[in-house]
Amino acid sequence: MDQNINKRIGILGGGQLGKMLCQAGSKLGLSIAIMERDKTFPAYPICSNWTDGDITKYEDVIAFGKDKDVITIEIENVNLSALEALEEMGKEVYPPTDALKIIKDKGLQKTFYEGLNFPTSDFTLFKSKDEIIKAIENKKLSIPFVQKSRTEGYDGKGVHVVRSEDDLKGLLDTQSVVEDLVDIKTELSVIVARRPNGEMSYFPPVEMEFHPTANLVEFLFSPSMLEHYIQEKAINLAMLVAQKLEIVGLLAVEMFVTKNDEILVNEVAPRPHNSGHHTIEACDISQYEMHLRAILDLPLINATLIRPAVMVNLLGEEGHSGTTLYSGLTEALQTAGVYPHLYGKKETKPYRKMGHVTIVNADIDKAKNIGHHIKNTLKVIAQT
Ligand code: ADP
Repeated sequence: MDQNINKRIGILGGGQLGKMLCQAGSKLGLSIAIMERDKTFPAYPICSNWTDGDITKYEDVIAFGKDKDVITIEIENVNLSALEALEEMGKEVYPPTDALKIIKDKGLQKTFYEGLNFPTSDFTLFKSKDEIIKAIENKKLSIPFVQKSRTEGYDGKGVHVVRSEDDLKGLLDTQSVVEDLVDIKTELSVIVARRPNGEMSYFPPVEMEFHPTANLVEFLFSPSMLEHYIQEKAINLAMLVAQKLEIVGLLAVEMFVTKNDEILVNEVAPRPHNSGHHTIEACDISQYEMHLRAILDLPLINATLIRPAVMVNLLGEEGHSGTTLYSGLTEALQTAGVYPHLYGKKETKPYRKMGHVTIVNADIDKAKNIGHHIKNTLKVIAQT
């Protein structure tokens, strides 16, 4: 077991999640190689080894993986056939390709939950926009609903909410899942970890706080304010999903808590997740170290939140494209308990994830106030 630390790890994808995995790996003296398109990506300066390559190309993934012991991902958009071939060669591929296949396709994901009687919103699968229109005409489908592209969607791209007939104009013309519009009280995420031997652990739930009018996620916070029994239910459900998917590594389980306090699984991600960034400063183990421990078959522990935390994403400002400038950074650094993570992306674009800030404070309300202030003052703009 102690030798596991010497395994050669390869990560497909060199974005911020890859970067933070390398940071955690460096602490344990791990050798972590990254493959990504070019050296402008965040993980380049910090990984042990770098390969220029396309994670969606079969040959590139095989060439990268064949001299590694363990291959993992930081984004789902990878070449699945290549990962299957690497698995057949005896490589340890985590998440396992069977789980990744289900997760990459929101249609298969929903069908998987339904098959196991996991609570999730009711849904129907459609092949095209025309099929959806016909279903409405035939009174088989009624407004409101949410349409989601089965593949390639992320960060709300590929999700279209239909609240009125007028919204039908924006229907996506692709294979999609159409699900009931849920009356959401709050959105919750629980990150769990699982080792090859089935041992599991979890992080305390994280809640998303929405802007009161703009319907945008303002920030994430932990501990959750939900009643204890709801949190327990969410943790148990998340663990069960990871177990049934036979995940190895992390699984972030996004859930809706309805106005009736029902918990519904929305979707999962088999890797470190936005809702676990705060674990670096706020927990006794970070999600990044937990993922590495899980894929190296090393002991897992249930994470404890040491201090309340709020996490604010730093997105590229609207109307700004060009060389990155973090405006308001000096001011942000003057407050204790404020931890900016700047991803090092040279070019900013509207809404691009450019960094995040974790705010820790013994008083969660104070942390939220600081979070609001940071959101209003720390901006990612283009240099003029
Ligand atoms: P993505 O993979 O792009 O993050 P999600 O499935 O998480 O897509 O959807 C993005 C957001 O859209 C969710 O966080 C939630 O706010 C809203 N949403 C998604 N599905 C539903 C639903 N069935 N009912 C109500 N809101 C939803």
